[in-house]
Amino acid sequence: MALIVQKYGGTSVGTVDRILEVARRAVKTVKLGNSLVVVLSAMGKTTDGLVKLAKEISANPSKREMDMLLSTGEQVSIALLSMALQEMGQPAISFTGAQVGIVTEAAHTRARILRIDPNRVETQLNSGKVVVVAGFQGIANAGELEITTLGRGGSDTTAVALAAALRADRCEIYTDVPGILTTDPRLVGEAQLMDEITCDEMLELASLGAKVLHPRAVEIAKNYGVPLVVLSSWSDAPGTRVVSPPPSARPLEGLELAKAVDAVEFDLDQAGVSLLRLPDRPGVAARLFGAIAQQNLDVDLIIQSIHEGNTNDIAFTVRRNSLNQAVAVADAIVPSLGKNSRPELGEPEVRAEERPIAKVSIAGAGMIGRPRVAAQMFNTLADAGINIQMISTSEVKVSCTIDAAECDRAVAELCKAFDVANSPVGLRCASQKPPAVRAVALDLNQARLAIRQLPDRPGVAAKMFGLLAEENISVDTIIQSQRCHNIDGILTRDIAFTVAQIDAEAAKTVLEKSAVEFGWGEVAVDTEIAKVSVVGSGMVAHPGVAAKMFEALSQHQINIQMIATSEIKISCVVDEAQGITALKAIHAAFELSGSEKVQVPA
Ligand code: ASP
Ligand code: MG
Repeated sequence: MALIVQKYGGTSVGTVDRILEVARRAVKTVKLGNSLVVVLSAMGKTTDGLVKLAKEISANPSKREMDMLLSTGEQVSIALLSMALQEMGQPAISFTGAQVGIVTEAAHTRARILRIDPNRVETQLNSGKVVVVAGFQGIANAGELEITTLGRGGSDTTAVALAAALRADRCEIYTDVPGILTTDPRLVGEAQLMDEITCDEMLELASLGAKVLHPRAVEIAKNYGVPLVVLSSWSDAPGTRVVSPPPSARPLEGLELAKAVDAVEFDLDQAGVSLLRLPDRPGVAARLFGAIAQQNLDVDLIIQSIHEGNTNDIAFTVRRNSLNQAVAVADAIVPSLGKNSRPELGEPEVRAEERPIAKVSIAGAGMIGRPRVAAQMFNTLADAGINIQMISTSEVKVSCTIDAAECDRAVAELCKAFDVANSPVGLRCASQKPPAVRAVALDLNQARLAIRQLPDRPGVAAKMFGLLAEENISVDTIIQSQRCHNIDGILTRDIAFTVAQIDAEAAKTVLEKSAVEFGWGEVAVDTEIAKVSVVGSGMVAHPGVAAKMFEALSQHQINIQMIATSEIKISCVVDEAQGITALKAIHAAFELSGSEKVQVPA
């Protein structure tokens, strides 16, 4: 007999008929000999409706009252489902978040779960009832019984957290799509259903528009090894498994506030190549990495960002013993790329990093939505007097290249700062050999900021991202270029990064305010950008993934403005108007397209 947690989203309980359908599925699950906890969202678009009501009364309603209001939606659906089950002869009982002891921090409208007291649920399960729990809500300040909510979409998080606390055998997330798709089917008609995806891949996709699963739910599944599956409430198809590493003995106390960083990783087998002042034209990255892939060289980090006068710098790292070969390829390619549009800035140039470099990374699902984490990494390195050369970030990882001689010290300091043990390589948890590219995503809600002429010394990046973190601005892709300018004897570099569009102006203001004090230059904002990303754990072992992505863009004459990579993701920033074309081209290039039409509700 298994213990199963099933979660049904808004459309799955949108009408009385749909609620009866959910009840039938629940009864069937119990009849198969399982114990069952059901977590529900509010019916249909109830929560949106409640938000609208509040806005009609106040432009800026109190967060406490918002929680009071929004938490009512789930109370309706759980009571109705419980009645439906009882009507079918299945004993059932519904509970609010408070009643099952879902204790959260006291942060109204965005609370994280601290702990769940499983006793009440277990007692009811043992008496043969189906326990129906309101998603998305909890209780803070136990003495004062303050109702909190977890943030929009939070009932996935309730479900997985309950599954972790109850040590359930499985958590099933029922939704209105058949599972997790290779890309957004509303943009790409050929999107296909995936059988499985790893938690790491899912996390990388989570903020990129793959809205089927709340990233915090994936974070918990990964941390506690909860077996998770996403499937349709309209069919009996098996859906998509979200594969997590084996369950760990992590304490349940501080459930969602568990460490932001799980691991400090390092790689000493890295050598850097920089190409400076390349022309800013479609096809440049494609030709370069195409030639490198032809030599079968494994490229690790790639970063590219544009500079004044529309010239480009690309930097990448390869294994040390491939450095000479990589430089030779770059040397051979560069003359054929043509001149840049501002010859007075200098000719294109290839530079091999003479000194050995190391890559140090912090990794962890808990970084999502916590802008202080990256800032803390830069700070830690700065305090140790270690200069950062390249920075590349993804949703769940920040990597920096530094002087190899400093690697041991950097790792020791980072382990101390984040209270973790160091580990050789990232977690891989796919059941079979994972494909190089699993899914493709488009994010149209980002803006790019470029800061010119940051003094090249330890502590500058720390300062900058610290200022943004203070404003609670999460930075997405960060790219620190390799090009140094010599301004009156001070070496400077440029940094570019992306933030959510709604944060762009605030980010610019904060950084401009401090420009004089910290000595950086102009801050430029561009909101007309799109970020396309490919995600797949198998890309580590597959040379040529980057080349294929760039080639697909080049064939459509799409210019790449920024490139950033992590082990399992490559992201390119392109012009907003070309975003959808870019997404389609890349989806097709990796042969993810299929002919089966996946039905999605509007
Ligand atoms: N009802 C809440 C919302 O619409 C929580 C959820 O459905 O996950 O955001
Ligand atoms: Mg949802």
